[in-house]
Amino acid sequence: MDIKIVKNSNPKVKPDQNNLGFGNYFTDHMFIMDYTKGIGWHDPRVAPYGPLELDPSAMVFHYAQETFEGLKAYKAVDGSIQLFRVRDNLKRLNISNDRVCIPQIDEKMMFEAIKTLIEVDKDWIPSAPGTSLYVRPFVIATDPYLGVRPAGTYKFMVILSPVGAYYKEGLNPTKIYVEDKYVRAVPGGIGFAKTGGNYAASLKAQVEANEKGYSQVLWLDGKERKYIEEVGTSNAFFKIEGKVYTAPLEGSILSGITRDSAIRLMKDWGYEVIEQRMTIQELKDLYEEGKLEEAFATGTAAVISPIGTLGWNGEDMVINESRIGALSQKLYDAITSIQYGKDEDKFDWVT
Ligand code: PMP
Repeated sequence: MDIKIVKNSNPKVKPDQNNLGFGNYFTDHMFIMDYTKGIGWHDPRVAPYGPLELDPSAMVFHYAQETFEGLKAYKAVDGSIQLFRVRDNLKRLNISNDRVCIPQIDEKMMFEAIKTLIEVDKDWIPSAPGTSLYVRPFVIATDPYLGVRPAGTYKFMVILSPVGAYYKEGLNPTKIYVEDKYVRAVPGGIGFAKTGGNYAASLKAQVEANEKGYSQVLWLDGKERKYIEEVGTSNAFFKIEGKVYTAPLEGSILSGITRDSAIRLMKDWGYEVIEQRMTIQELKDLYEEGKLEEAFATGTAAVISPIGTLGWNGEDMVINESRIGALSQKLYDAITSIQYGKDEDKFDWVT
């Protein structure tokens, strides 16, 4: 399918690269493609960035039939534009689509869509240290209908946002609250899918954790509320007596692409990485015994985020004296070096 391009005749003034923050600014163009039951996906196009006109009864507004992805494009040290593990994000979008009955989208078509859009808006990719262009593909159900069933019409879209370094002063250990009242996902639910409902369900816990002075929550499993799952919008890792533990992918956590990158790098460096369920009580006991050496979270936004404090049951565990651990720093350096083309791409992650 050919992608039609309509250029924006009214481009915006670009924001200050040193003050971007995350998700505040959007480029001059967006990608759109429509789906109609019986016809399939059609009319791929790049259009000027702007509001959509949707019927107030559009199903996405009522039953949240939608999915999304998040990845980044980087201005590499040689001036080229690099995408990191984009095919894995597109595969995950189709896994999410399947879970909420959105029709599959050809992954080559989505890849072409992203490449074409970035090419049109390439002047928006920031080059200040730590900055990148965040790519947000998403799908929404658009039928004007109030019955509960899968829609027959959808839009697949891509928007782009220049973003800053997540932490201005390099890595910054966070204070995390172990959430034992609210749950994010349950066995058989939608936890593994990137769909809006999961994020709506997480807000109240995040707000209450912020009120208590923590920046994010660590989720426990939705059934027994004792097994460690993930941290906010990132996956959690614990280094215990030299070995690295993380929750297994059993349907309630997101299969993070940074999680997978970290696991592959650590195994390559000779670490034993164990994907195994662990209770918060087990972690607390290991902490008390002085065996918990490092904790960190992985995700596209911050790459690696050391966990400095874990608040549980009215007590704070202060991990590694709330300093950046050697493994956290090594992973951060290794992943960002590949992303910015400073290091050999030995796993074939970069496009
Ligand atoms: N868990 C959740 C719930 C997330 O939203 C994200 C961000 N996509 C992650 C984990 C980390 O995934 P990734 O490394 O692919 O960004």
